[in-house]
Formats: sequence, C-alpha cells, structure tokens
Amino acid sequence: MHRPGCNPDDVQPQDVLCDFCGRAAWAEDIPCVEGHRGSLICGDCLELACASSVYDSDQTDNAIVSLCVLCLQESDGGLWRHEFNEAGICKRCMKQAAGVLSKSKDWNWNRPA
Ligand SMILES: [Zn+2]
Ligand SMILES: [Zn+2]
Repeated sequence: MHRPGCNPDDVQPQDVLCDFCGRAAWAEDIPCVEGHRGSLICGDCLELACASSVYDSDQTDNAIVSLCVLCLQESDGGLWRHEFNEAGICKRCMKQAAGVLSKSKDWNWNRPA
C-alpha cells in the first residue's frame, strides 16, 4: 500500500509499504511482490503466510475485510491474515507471489517447506 498522505503522482520508495507489516519494503530493500492498486507483500510476511495453514474462512462473521489485498477478489478458501493487520491474502496470490519471489534472481528467497 502507499503511505497515507503520500503524493500519488510522485510516489517515493519510502512511500510503498507492505500491506501486512507496514514496512517500507522498497526503501529497505526487502524482497516483495506487488499486487493490484499498489498493494504489496514483503518476503517476511509471505514466508509467514506460506508457513501458516490458518485461514479465516471459518470465521466470516467477524472478518473485517473479505477481499484479498493483492487481487482484490473474494476467496472461497478464506484469507491468511497477519496477526497485527486486517489485510488478507488468498491462497492463489500467496502461491503466485511465492513463485515470483523464489524465482527472482534479485532475491535469495525460498518458500518455507
Ligand atoms: Zn510485510
Ligand atoms: Zn488474492
């Protein structure tokens, strides 16, 4: 996501934050994958997401945001959420992002076993 209040016509690296942990992944040179509308997941959050098997599909009544932040779509399988954040990622995006990061030559990122 973009830092609230940043100039949309002049987005700086430090304005681009991970939607899950809120770190400025670009500015800090952290591996990350972009989704729709400036959404972003960093390698650390993706690692957490891949290692977790907890999705919120069983608790849809109290789900605050029902759309995946990366693809902006509802997911049948529920969303993984960062414990400090309401943002969710669907399994499809998680797989896709993990594929992108693990193949990228820029980063030494491996999908957790
Ligand atoms: Zn993150
Ligand atoms: Zn998604």
